[in-house]
Formats: sequence, structure tokens, C-alpha cells
Amino acid sequence: MNLTGRVAVITGGAGGIGAALAHRFAAEGAAAVVVADFDADAARAVAAAVGPVAHAAGLDVTVEEQVRALVADTERRYGHIDLFCANAGVATAAGLDAADADWDRAWRVNVLAHVHSTRAVLPGMLARGQGYLLHTCSAAGLLTAVGDAPYTATKHAAVGLAEWLAVTYRDQGIRVSALCPQGVDTPMLAEGLATGHLGARVIAASGAVLHPDRVADAVIAGLAEERFLILPHPEVAQHALRRA
Ligand code: NAD
Repeated sequence: MNLTGRVAVITGGAGGIGAALAHRFAAEGAAAVVVADFDADAARAVAAAVGPVAHAAGLDVTVEEQVRALVADTERRYGHIDLFCANAGVATAAGLDAADADWDRAWRVNVLAHVHSTRAVLPGMLARGQGYLLHTCSAAGLLTAVGDAPYTATKHAAVGLAEWLAVTYRDQGIRVSALCPQGVDTPMLAEGLATGHLGARVIAASGAVLHPDRVADAVIAGLAEERFLILPHPEVAQHALRRA
């Protein structure tokens, strides 16, 4: 997909990776970029920095009605949605001893929200016979022992969901990619390090932490080449290929 003239929506758009994608999509010529985030003030700040093609929206991706409203509002404003990035995510600490509430939150944000947003955006894309779904997953969704248990399990589920969508809708003009970075210099990684998350410590020790702009580079290349797995870290690509 070429971004010129496209309408893109990014959830978690105020975060490190989401904001980098918003800036990059605008620079690549997108006609509209919707920066949607739980933190509405931060979303407004990112949209203002991106420029006039950007528009901010506050939402909680775990509330399906809010996701539906975001999609409906965007379609009303811009006519349709070309690219939907389900990017909002949460990291939770701990292994089996993680509280059920943490498992539940990780499931709702990292997986179920992707189901809800896809359900909302897909009818418009199918009606036009085209559309791109970018799911931000993680290297923790391909490999084990690089994240904490709820994060690893839910990111594996997110990759599985994206793969299922790719296979199910590919003959109807829908492209799907799973973005699987490993360590990216964002507030999520900083918070993980500050609170001692195992995954954040493993990533930091690997010395392969990327700037979010390098993730945006990988996304642009992945969209252009229509890749299912978008792997900004070459070492993750090697592991993923070995697994395949
Ligand atoms: P971040 O914390 O900077 O951004 C995440 C954003 O998601 C935040 O702005 C937050 O407000 C938003 N968000 C969280 N819950 C939400 C909800 N319920 N509704 C709406 N918005 C919500 O982190 P990031 O690193 O930019 O993460 C973006 C994505 O990349 C996540 O899915 C994350 O799991 C994934 N990822 C990050 C790394 C990394 O090392 N930073 C590595 C692999 C994958």
C-alpha cells in the first residue's frame, strides 16, 4: 500500500510507536490520520504536532461502543478508512502469579480490542473491496521468554488473530500485517524497566532497542511489499524464520 491520499486510524496513537506512525503516515502523503488514544490530551498534542491532516480522538479500546463510534465518525468525516492500526497495548508484569485482573486487562487491550476494531472497520473495507489492517503485536508474540506471561500469551494470540484474518479475507482485497518489534524506546519500555518487568530487562540487556522512527520505517517498507510479518529487528526475523 502507498500512503498517498489514504485515510489512516491509529489506536494508541499518542504512544511512542503510534505517534511515530502518525508523523510518518502524514509525511508519506496520507490525506487524514486519526490519532486515537485513551489519553485524549496527549492525542491532541500528537495531532497538533503532526499537522492539519491529523485529527485526535479520545477512546478506550476495551469499550466496543467507543471503537464503533471512532470508526463511524472517521467514515463520516473522510468517507472511508484505508488503513486501521490496532496499536494500543499494555504490558503487565509477572508470570503465573499475575493477578487475574492483569490477565484480563492484557486480554482485553492486546487481543479483544483488535477483534472489536476489526469487526467495526471491516464492513466498510469489504464494501470497497480493499483495506489494510495493521496489528501491532510484538516479538513476544513469536518467541517465548522475551516478555512476561500475560504479555507473551496475549501477543501470541494477537499474531494468531492477525494470521487468521489474513488468510480469511485475502481473497476479498483485505491485507493484514502483524507488526512484531522487540525493544522500542517508548514510555512502555521505560515504565517496564522502572517497575522491573522481566521482558523489559531482557530487551534492554539485548542492547537492540530501536527508536520508534525505525519501527515506522519498517512499517512503510512492510506496507509497500505487502508483508504479513513486519519485523523491525533483524535478529527477531532470524528466530521467526527458524521457527517457521
Ligand atoms: P506506549 O505506552 O508509548 O503507547 C501505548 C499507547 O496505548 C499509550 O498512549 C496508551 O495511552 C494507549 N492505550 C493503552 N491502553 C489503551 C486503551 N484501553 N484504549 C486506548 N488507548 C490505550 O507504548 P508503545 O511502545 O508505543 O506501544 C505500542 C504498541 O507496541 C503496543 O501494542 C505494544 O505492546 C507494542 N510493542 C511495544 C514494544 C516496545 O518495546 N516498546 C515492543 C513490542 C511491541
